[in-house]
Amino acid sequence: MLFDAEIIRSSRRTVAVQITRDGGVVVRAPLWMSGRKIEAFLESKRSWIEKHLSRTAPQLPPLTEEEITALLAAAKEDLPRRVERLALQVGVSVNRVTIRCQRTRWGSCSAKGNINLNCLLMLCPEEVRDYVVVHELCHRREMNHSPRFWAEVERVMPDYRCHRRWLKEKGSSVMQRI
Ligand SMILES: [Zn+2]
Repeated sequence: MLFDAEIIRSSRRTVAVQITRDGGVVVRAPLWMSGRKIEAFLESKRSWIEKHLSRTAPQLPPLTEEEITALLAAAKEDLPRRVERLALQVGVSVNRVTIRCQRTRWGSCSAKGNINLNCLLMLCPEEVRDYVVVHELCHRREMNHSPRFWAEVERVMPDYRCHRRWLKEKGSSVMQRI
């Protein structure tokens, strides 16, 4: 197979290819269509697929040391203020806010109320930054990802799902820059 495609057969009559938001290739094919026919179909769509795959997974250049330093400085200005403002909305207290540049996580919150945030959030849309802050602040109420936790996130940020999706889809390409 040319692409790591997921093949979904159904009673449909025609074959179609689709690129999912997270960069997967999905082929929807009739029940009767052979694997070889599907491969030939994919081959005929190769340039279209490649074009769209490169669009879903943009290769961003790695950050230079100076850029990371500037990002940290900007994050130290921006993120603690965001925490302060949103903590009032969530209705919780915060102990300490630490900004780090890391590849593994966007934020974390300790039982003592120490919040860690990733400086790479500065490369994400503002609403996504707010979502991560709200997420961590809501852990001051619920130290888990239970339905109660998500209900609390939703109360403060009713449209949090699209920001969460943004991180899921584009977050790794931002993190890969360090
Ligand atoms: Zn969490």
